[in-house]
This record gives sequence, C-alpha cells and structure tokens, in this order.
Amino acid sequence: MARCSLCDRPAVYLSKAGGKAYCEHHFLRYFDRKARRTIRRYCMFRERENIVVAVSGGKDSLALLHYLYRLSRRVPGWRIMALLIDEGIKGYREITIKDFLRVANELGVEYRIVRFKDEFGYTLDEIIEIGRKRGLPYQPCSYCGVFRRYLLNKAAREMGGTVLATAHNLDDIVQTYLLNIIQNNWDKIPKLAPVSKGPSHPRFIRRVKPFYEILEKETTLYAILNNLYPEFIECPYAVHSVRWSIRRHINELEEKHPGTKYSLLRSLLRIIEILDRYGYGGEGEIGTCSICGEPAAHDICRACLFRRELGILDNR
Ligand code: SF4
Ligand code: ZN
Repeated sequence: MARCSLCDRPAVYLSKAGGKAYCEHHFLRYFDRKARRTIRRYCMFRERENIVVAVSGGKDSLALLHYLYRLSRRVPGWRIMALLIDEGIKGYREITIKDFLRVANELGVEYRIVRFKDEFGYTLDEIIEIGRKRGLPYQPCSYCGVFRRYLLNKAAREMGGTVLATAHNLDDIVQTYLLNIIQNNWDKIPKLAPVSKGPSHPRFIRRVKPFYEILEKETTLYAILNNLYPEFIECPYAVHSVRWSIRRHINELEEKHPGTKYSLLRSLLRIIEILDRYGYGGEGEIGTCSICGEPAAHDICRACLFRRELGILDNR
C-alpha cells in the first residue's frame, strides 16, 4: 500500500501530476491550501462578503458549501448562505434536496430553496412538455440552464448576496472549454473565467468558482472524507453526448500524461486574456430586460424570450 509522502501513514490520495501521495490528514491540508491559493490568486472574495453558495445537492456543491462554511469561521466579515434551485424534475430533484437539507442543517447555514413552479408557474418537466407540444426546438438542458442561471442571480440578490459561488471544478471547466471550441462557441469562453468579468449591471451578482484549480477526484474525496457524499442519482435529462466523450478522452490523456488538465486550464486562461485584450472579454455595460427588469444582453432577457415562446409569460 502506498504511504503518505509527508508522514508515512497509509495514503488515501495519489497526485500523479505533483508526484506525491497523501494520507487523510495531509490530503485535507493539501486540499485546503489549494482552494485558499485559488481564492487568493483570483481575488475571489473581499474582507466583507455575503457569500451565496449555489448548491445542487451533488457532491461538488456540497463540498463547496462545507469548505466555504468552515473557511468563513476564520474570516469574521464573511457570511455564508446556501441557495438551491428546484427545477421540478420528478424522481431526481427530491432526492438531491434531501442531501442538501441534511448538510445545510448539520452545518447550520441559512438557506433558500427557489422553485421553477413558484417563479414561472410550471416545473421543468411541464415546461419541456409544453415546448414539445409547441414544436420548439430546444433541449431540456437549454430551458434548465437559462431558467436556473436567471433564478440564481435573482435569488442571490434578494438574499442580500454580494457574490455567488459555484462549484465548478477543474474537470468541468476544461471539458466546457473543449466543448466550446468544438462547437465554435468562442463567445462563451470568457464565461469560463474564475471570476465573472461583468457585465456591469446593478442587478448582476458577481460569480466566482473557488474550485477552479481543483480536480474532480479531489472534490469527490473531500466529500467522502467529510461524510457529505450524497446518494448517487443522475438527472433523467442528462444525455451522454459530446461532453461525455470529451470527459472520457481528457481522463485518458491525464492518465497517460499527468498534468494535461492543468495544461488545458493554462491554455484557457491565456485565451481569456487574449479575448479580453481584443475587447471580447464580456465586460462592459449590459441592458435591462423590458419585461422583467433583470440584466439582459438584448431588449428581452433569454428567460423571458423562452417564456414568451412557451406562452407562459403571464404565469409569473
Ligand atoms: Fe438541468 Fe440538464 Fe443538468 Fe438535468 S442534466 S439538471 S436538465 S442542465
Ligand atoms: Zn426578462
């Protein structure tokens, strides 16, 4: 059995890229240092912050809530709150909510659950059905993503949040990076920055990704060691398409050539810098939706556009 490179106890984690093995105690210390370094490096939080953690009930977001809550006890100016968006996905979301409530109550953090049904008049399941009947061309994840991002920003602001933390880890980021390249979605690349660049709008809450430099297997192990690991369940709408293949290929590359994921991340950061320099960084002013008053890139925000196409605008 491999031994910890620092104390000779049995190792629970082997960092191939770093060439070191860690026992439980030293893994948690390594994890903490890495996350704190990420937070510092990208200036994610200020001295006084009301941090809203976006939680889905999955392992990464539970790990983030747990980690930031623990860290906040050492920073007097930080207040941690949790926010879960319940899209209304039968047989799935109820289970992840149970895991979320267990962890939030154990930690004693303030939380809010916001439901599609209450905000839009319909659950995601119902919205997908309406879209099908109307012959709309969108995939379930398109409605889900647009409406979820809309509510995260709105609810975080209503909770008094000054910053919204999401649990994207290094694997998520580099997968999305490659996906955007394959699909020629250059305009989406600046959104993969560790701290949202803007747009500047009084109703827009800054977003940060504290696990930006942390591998998925590390957040998973953190969740296991802290007894956070949720019941494994997958969204029924998750389709294992291009992203799934990209994930598999990146993992294979990392296995054969340790450090590939970090290298991809550095490449992404460089591209973001270049896009920024040429004015494609996503900063600057943004308009206001003429229907709901939320930030919008055009006259009407994407959530209201979807609602109009679905014929459910009056159900607000
Ligand atoms: Fe939403 Fe798609 Fe994720 Fe399911 S897989 S939670 S529908 S984005
Ligand atoms: Zn709107």
